[in-house]
Amino acid sequence: MAYVYDDQNIFARILRGEIPNKTVLETEHSLAFHDIGPQAPCHVLVIPRGAYVSYDHFTAEASDAEILDFSRAVGEVCRMMEVSPAGTGQGYRLISNTGDHGHQEVPHLHVHVLGGRSLGRMLE
Ligand code: 5GP
Repeated sequence: MAYVYDDQNIFARILRGEIPNKTVLETEHSLAFHDIGPQAPCHVLVIPRGAYVSYDHFTAEASDAEILDFSRAVGEVCRMMEVSPAGTGQGYRLISNTGDHGHQEVPHLHVHVLGGRSLGRMLE
């Protein structure tokens, strides 16, 4: 399977420092920053630094270190943003829109961390 990565996408440009962002967390292999159009009091995007379009692309080609770092970064953002139900920040939702059917706008893997309010039921 051939994955094609567009290195001019907005998140690639953020990673290169060409576009500013409000950073929440920086790790060796990941970056988390506030979404420019927040849909909830907490709306943070977590991305791997590597050139991956989707979660399936990431897990097919990334190193174990990248995958571990990204997974931990998502959890760390939930704790930092104080949305963990253990907190109790009452909980959160992780979303990774992928491809045309998933209505992905930016073709660089990202996980939305949404929380800070009741998000309602989403899956139909
Ligand atoms: P998706 O690809 O999952 O549909 O969503 C892409 C997300 O990226 C959107 O929620 C949008 O608001 C966000 N976004 C698009 N451009 C920028 C940008 O330049 N900076 C930041 N921080 N977020 C962006």
